[in-house]
Amino acid sequence: MTDPADLVQEACGLLAQLVPRLRREAPVPDETAFAAPGMTARPAAAPLPGNPAAIYALTSIHATARQLEGVLKYAAGARRPGPLAARGGSDANTAGALAAITSLIGIADDDLYRLVISELEQRLDEARQFRAIDEAGQWRSVGGGSVCPFCRGSSLKALLDARRQPGRIQCFGHRESGAPCRATWPRLADIVPDLARAEEAG
Ligand SMILES: [Zn+2]
Repeated sequence: MTDPADLVQEACGLLAQLVPRLRREAPVPDETAFAAPGMTARPAAAPLPGNPAAIYALTSIHATARQLEGVLKYAAGARRPGPLAARGGSDANTAGALAAITSLIGIADDDLYRLVISELEQRLDEARQFRAIDEAGQWRSVGGGSVCPFCRGSSLKALLDARRQPGRIQCFGHRESGAPCRATWPRLADIVPDLARAEEAG
C-alpha cells in the first residue's frame, strides 16, 4: 500500500517543479518603468506581458505552501516564530515550505492530512489548467533504455495526468524523414509486441 505521506511528498515535489515553469510564464517585472533618461518606457496602454493563469497558479502555490507549513508547524507544537515571519516571498522559500510540508506531514491527524492533500491537489489542478504546463509537464520520460519500435529513438514518455489515460505512452522522437513519430500505446506493456515485430524485421 502507498503510504499517505508519499502522496503528499509526490504532490509537493510536483508543485516544486511547477514553480520555475510558472515563473517563466508569469509577467516579467516592468523594468522599463524605471528606465534611465533616454530609454524607452513601455507604453502605459500596453497589456501586461505574461499569462494570467500562470500568475494565479503561482501566487496560489506560494500562499498555500506557507499556510500549510504554518498549520503543520503549529500542530507540531511550534508556536513562534510563525512561518510567515520566517519565510520571504521568493521561489526558494516556497520550495523550502514544500519540503517542510513533506517532512512534517507525519504528525498530521486524519483531518489535517485531508486538508493538506486537498489543498495541494487544488494547486496542482490550477497549474494543470495552464495549457503550456499541461502539454509540457505531464509527461515523464520512460527510462530503462526503452526504444521506440518505429523510429528507434529513446524519446518515449508516459502521461502522468491521472484524469486522462494515465500511463499512456507516446513517442516524441522523429522518423528518418524528420517527421514527428507520435506513436502511442495505451500501456507500457503494449509496446512489447511492436518491439518484437521490429526485431524480427531487423
Ligand atoms: Zn518513435
